[in-house]
Amino acid sequence: MDDLDLSTWLIWSGRPTELGEPLNVPPVLASNFRLPGDRYYSRSEGTPTQNAFEDLMGGLDGGRSLAFATGMAAVACVFHGLPVGSKLVLPDDPYHAVNGLAEEGEKQGRWEVQRLDLGDTDAWIDAAQSADLLWLESPANPLMTVADLPKICSAPRKPGCLVAVDSTFATPLVQRPLEYGADISMHSATKFIGGHSDLMAGVLTVRDDSLYQELYDRRVRNGGTIGGMEAFLSIRGARTLGLRMEKAMANAMILAERLEAHPEVDTVRYPGLASHENHAVAASFMNGFGAVMSFDVAGTGERASAFAEAANVINNATSLGGIESTMERRALIPGQETMPATLIRFSVGCEHVEDLWRDLDQALAATA
Ligand SMILES: *Cc1c(COP(=O)(O)O)cnc(C)c1O
Repeated sequence: MDDLDLSTWLIWSGRPTELGEPLNVPPVLASNFRLPGDRYYSRSEGTPTQNAFEDLMGGLDGGRSLAFATGMAAVACVFHGLPVGSKLVLPDDPYHAVNGLAEEGEKQGRWEVQRLDLGDTDAWIDAAQSADLLWLESPANPLMTVADLPKICSAPRKPGCLVAVDSTFATPLVQRPLEYGADISMHSATKFIGGHSDLMAGVLTVRDDSLYQELYDRRVRNGGTIGGMEAFLSIRGARTLGLRMEKAMANAMILAERLEAHPEVDTVRYPGLASHENHAVAASFMNGFGAVMSFDVAGTGERASAFAEAANVINNATSLGGIESTMERRALIPGQETMPATLIRFSVGCEHVEDLWRDLDQALAATA
């Protein structure tokens, strides 16, 4: 079924097909199976529910997927494969827990970290000559920088250097890093793929069989395998990813334009806006611009906090990618103190766009 559109694949994939079987793969809640030996233990071989989620994600990303208990378990599974003394290249400002993981390993002397501006394509291409792992994140959290993934992922590199892309903000409907030449596509499925803020999950997708086996074996040892219920909910959430992304991205584009024109808002960072510094790069390869943006409320950090609290329809909460809109003042998050004090990260959901706009407008007016 290679010819299906990804939106159809999401709905079609992973269903039992035998006569009398249920239409949905059930949540198989079992740690072990009636088979001999140490095999067929859910941390190792997984459950039928997990395997169905992995098949769905593999088709979506264009490779073979491994599902994890969280996005960070997936990230750690990649980082912890680096031999001692490796060179790890990160964006200036990666997802904060990724940064924490990198700093811990750096302190322990496991690897050396080089940090680069995601928008500086040549610097990444240069670094590929000496790195062991390029870890890209695009669009990036929460400044919304977009890396030129097709250029960076296909550039010549030192033998053995892996290129991985944290594609959480985009989803495979917007970009497919493996097609550009990346070795690993990573997702926090907690976000858009699950889509309902009711689960934690992570995914790695790869094409190379020996890399797959290496990551699989490390997951068995480190114990980051996804749970049965989370795998079930991830599939259920992913079924509607196409619909949700279409609606949320359309909402995001309209709201970004209106926020940009609003006198009580300073900078709006959304790759879909012509004013965004990486707009041309984003438009050159992304299929849409995602549904996350950040913007600066005019005035002080206190005003930005009051603004987020004054919203009634948009939830003042962390995380992103839910069917419900969320926003938060990012500088309040531990590890994000260096963010602009007035920066609001806004994950646009699937509500009616006019309800979202009225809510933003009234919260700006109430705190002006
Ligand atoms: C949330 C997130 C992660 C971490 O995923 P968890 O599921 O929270 O462990 C990593 N990268 C990005 C870009 C994220 O948004």
